[in-house]
Amino acid sequence: MSKKFLVPRGTNDILPLEIPLWQHVEAKARDILKNYNYKEIRTPFFEETELFVRSMGQTSDVVQKQMLNLGSDLSLRPENTASVVRAYIQHSLDRKENLSKLFYIGPMFRGERPQKGRLRQFHQMGGEAIGPGTCSPYLDAEVIALSVNMLKSFGLNNFQLKINTLGSPEDKENFSGMLRKMFKSPLEGLCEDCQKRYERNVFRILDCKNKDCRAIVNAQKIDHSYLSDESHAYYAKVKEALESLGIAYEESLNLVRGLDYYTHTVFEISDASLGSQDALGAGGRYNDLVPQLGGPQVDAIGFALGVERILLAMPQDKEFVGQTPTVFVIALDETAFAEAFSLVNTLRQEGVPSDINYKVSSVKSQMRSANKSGARYVALLGEDELKNNVVTVKDMETGNQEQLELTKLIGKVK
Ligand code: AMP
Repeated sequence: MSKKFLVPRGTNDILPLEIPLWQHVEAKARDILKNYNYKEIRTPFFEETELFVRSMGQTSDVVQKQMLNLGSDLSLRPENTASVVRAYIQHSLDRKENLSKLFYIGPMFRGERPQKGRLRQFHQMGGEAIGPGTCSPYLDAEVIALSVNMLKSFGLNNFQLKINTLGSPEDKENFSGMLRKMFKSPLEGLCEDCQKRYERNVFRILDCKNKDCRAIVNAQKIDHSYLSDESHAYYAKVKEALESLGIAYEESLNLVRGLDYYTHTVFEISDASLGSQDALGAGGRYNDLVPQLGGPQVDAIGFALGVERILLAMPQDKEFVGQTPTVFVIALDETAFAEAFSLVNTLRQEGVPSDINYKVSSVKSQMRSANKSGARYVALLGEDELKNNVVTVKDMETGNQEQLELTKLIGKVK
């Protein structure tokens, strides 16, 4: 027996019946992104591995454990921020507009151990707002509000938004020092991974899911003393702007995000109904990434939402109808087939979605095919119809049947 191939673990086929739901979510997202003046950008699914290492940081979880390398020095994109920034620099978008608001919808790839809500190929919709001198607390609040409003437009309303600030790069250094001091004495009690994180990227201890680590983290009194006055004031404005937009948030001083590039505002949106993989999306400001990747000194902030998780959390109260032809054409005998074939062609030329049964069999069996196709109308052509230059049209919704001239048929179904 020959081998049966299955979809690779951690990836999904999205079948035609599921597509309408995906298209609904994508269309909603595009509408809202357009309202906020975001324009679509499409970058390749793979880039130089070093781009991801340099942007996310050698010590990030994604780079350490989740990159899908394509051999040579290329890797599949685990996220899209680095690629968008690469494209921004490569095409000198800073010279074309003051603030580039770019969005993307597409697959991302991470070599994770698959589980519910955690895939090796998944989809994100996200945006990046990049431009010189555009670091504004109002833009931060707007990006957060945009993420929240997208989720609301999908019918989600049980999610929770958490925000925090890492401050300027100098503040972030202070923060790192503060955490090192804090975890120095309880270091032995932390898991093996966190003991390494202490050296390499102390922030990531705050994200550890290990129970003992959680307890140690929760026992610490983290405050914002690492922030400069300026960063304090900036963050206060972000919160004020969120309030003015009516966006409910919770402040979480433990929220740091595991990637090197974040500074100032960071946020995460989660939905408890999703279980252990509860993050719907996240984002933050990354003012120094563009210069770090060889571009001009421009400010930037971005976000990404996980599409599969959105679909899991969406209320299942709406039915999405799959794509169906308007007309399904049936030839009642072999002599009528050529005419039927020409009819379906004419209908398509006229912009009427149509299909035909390619094998002339009994009316009963052909009607079954017509039914399965979901077509609203069935057009039947046989000897009588050919003789009288008409088509028999059955309305599958009402059951009514009538004979029409071809031009009338087009008028009716259009
Ligand atoms: P991250 O950059 O890891 O914060 O990812 C942003 C969002 O993408 C997350 O909040 C999830 O909704 C989604 N996401 C990330 N990794 C995966 C994955 N392996 N499988 C499914 N969704 C994911």
